[in-house]
Amino acid sequence: MSGPLQLSEQPLCPLYPLRFLCDEMLQGLGEWLRVAGYDTETPLNGAVDRDVLAQAVVENRWLITRDRELLQHREGPAYVILLGTGGQEENLRELTRRLDLDWLKSPFSRCKRCNTPLQQGPHPGSPPLPELDLDSIYHCPRCCQTYWEGSHVRRMRERLRRFSHWRPASR
Ligand SMILES: [Zn+2]
Repeated sequence: MSGPLQLSEQPLCPLYPLRFLCDEMLQGLGEWLRVAGYDTETPLNGAVDRDVLAQAVVENRWLITRDRELLQHREGPAYVILLGTGGQEENLRELTRRLDLDWLKSPFSRCKRCNTPLQQGPHPGSPPLPELDLDSIYHCPRCCQTYWEGSHVRRMRERLRRFSHWRPASR
């Protein structure tokens, strides 16, 4: 038997501030961590397990994965957070419980796509965005993605608030 409940008993080494390296298979989850403001990188394409773990150690990040084999490496137990095989919501809930994640930490401070800290205002090269308060617009200086307080962002804020109810402290 190896359900998620058992995996939650795995002891965790706290590394602060919380930073993550999120397995390619869990990129949807990684995007939510970035939306909440957590520094969350993705391993290089095609990187082998040993290199992925080395990146986690060098950059002092929790490696979030469903790949049990990563735990077999020497540094594994101190850096790997092994999630169960449930869906994204179940994984998010498990991670929240185990790390007491603060989903309202600093929403929309990082690019959801590439993890770069966002800058206020529209991207210098973007076409004008009329009828928007310039203070409510943010852009990614790396990939040029623009974020503003439209319905999409509002929906994501609502989901963050919902996630935050899973924190152990809020029970
Ligand atoms: Zn970006």
